[in-house]
Amino acid sequence: MKRLHLLYLPLIALAASCSDAPSPQPASASASVAETKTDLASLLAPDKSTPNSYDAHLEEAPDDNCERIHINTIGPLRQVFNDSNHVQLEAAQALGIEPIHSTTDIMMLRKGLVEVKSCPEYYLDELSHSFPFLVPEAAALVKDIGRAFNDSLAARGGGAYRIKVTSVLRTPATVKRLRRVNGNATEESTHAYGTTVDISYSKFICDDASQPHRTFEDLKNLLAEVLNDMRSQGRCYVKYEYRQSCFHLTARPNK
Ligand SMILES: [Zn+2]
Repeated sequence: MKRLHLLYLPLIALAASCSDAPSPQPASASASVAETKTDLASLLAPDKSTPNSYDAHLEEAPDDNCERIHINTIGPLRQVFNDSNHVQLEAAQALGIEPIHSTTDIMMLRKGLVEVKSCPEYYLDELSHSFPFLVPEAAALVKDIGRAFNDSLAARGGGAYRIKVTSVLRTPATVKRLRRVNGNATEESTHAYGTTVDISYSKFICDDASQPHRTFEDLKNLLAEVLNDMRSQGRCYVKYEYRQSCFHLTARPNK
């Protein structure tokens, strides 16, 4: 909640600039643009003021004595999860915010972006090209996916693992930077709408090596089962990204 108060500061500034009082002019246009970008990044930065115990985890998952688990085969993942950017974009535009170009666009947060952070259901990676905010439906979806993953793993013999969320909300500026290094960062990114996350399928977080050890291959296929269920329920679209080793998924509006 504290974070949201900070995010509302630009609203106050905006309201002030609408009054009759003369507003200070920027020294130069380029200085103003640079300042705006900095402000935007800092306003959307994760709230690190309170330590989060769910950020803690083992540095490496144990890969010895792994016990295999039962997996329900759903088919080749690239074919099963092949929802196009076009359908994901339609859902993102129906459910999400307007892409955030400037600090004044943060007014859109009034529509209810929520901050996401590591929790029992998932681990939020250090974000380099995105910010930890989602619309409530997408935040709930990720929690539900993590919970279903944990429950399914417990039902098949257990293990202390969490899924890892690697990308969340991007602004058009971060999409542009990312496109230089990542061919999958499409021009019109669904990540800009607060409806979309990437969940790694090559890395999982291990919290306790004293519990049964699992292979990442089994955990990947278990996660795929969960995503297949969520997708069948009409809750999301999913794309299997092979270059980034992640599932790219977009929450869908309720019918
Ligand atoms: Zn993605």
